[in-house]
Amino acid sequence: MDFILATNNMKKLAEMQRILSPLGINVVTAKMLGITLEDVEEDGETFEDNAKLKAHAACKETNMPAIADDSGLCVDYLDGAPGIFSARFAGEHGNDEKNNDLLLEKLDGVPLEERTAHYVCAICCTFPDGKEIVVRGECNGVIGFERDGHEGFGYDPLFLVGGKAFGRYTAEEKDKISHRGNALRLLTKELEKII
Ligand code: IMP
Repeated sequence: MDFILATNNMKKLAEMQRILSPLGINVVTAKMLGITLEDVEEDGETFEDNAKLKAHAACKETNMPAIADDSGLCVDYLDGAPGIFSARFAGEHGNDEKNNDLLLEKLDGVPLEERTAHYVCAICCTFPDGKEIVVRGECNGVIGFERDGHEGFGYDPLFLVGGKAFGRYTAEEKDKISHRGNALRLLTKELEKII
């Protein structure tokens, strides 16, 4: 069965494909279908709201089962910021360098024990008949004092789990414990019940 993934992020596509293909699910993007999905305004108040907005729009436009995710970093010392605004924390959408600089600046002088944080990933899967699955995966860590490693993306060079930055984890190591990996494993369980 083909599912449309409401993203053009090839890393997310590969990760979803890897985890969902054993269920007989083939994940495709709009680009692979030669179509362009309309931009969706991500104006929800939660990760789940935004994942739902994107999945419902893609399902409606294509009449295919659709999957969308929304993810981000929540830092306890910053009362959960940047949260749903993670991609544009420093103002410019998707500027990882500036986002990491701003995070280090806001945590300047804060000791390690107060630098706790977690990644969140909400995934919504919706079907043309109206069925819907929403799951959330999380991953706990702490924010380091300087960048470490070049793997992953976003805040990974600053996000430490077990004393090691995600920037130094291989993709496979990260999948096993990451927020997105955890959400996808929950999604798999829910999908197995209905397909
Ligand atoms: P989106 O879900 O693609 O909108 O991602 C939101 C933002 O959260 C990204 O631009 C990153 O800054 C951050 N983020 C989400 N997941 C990860 C991750 O696995 N590693 C690093 N940063 C992440």
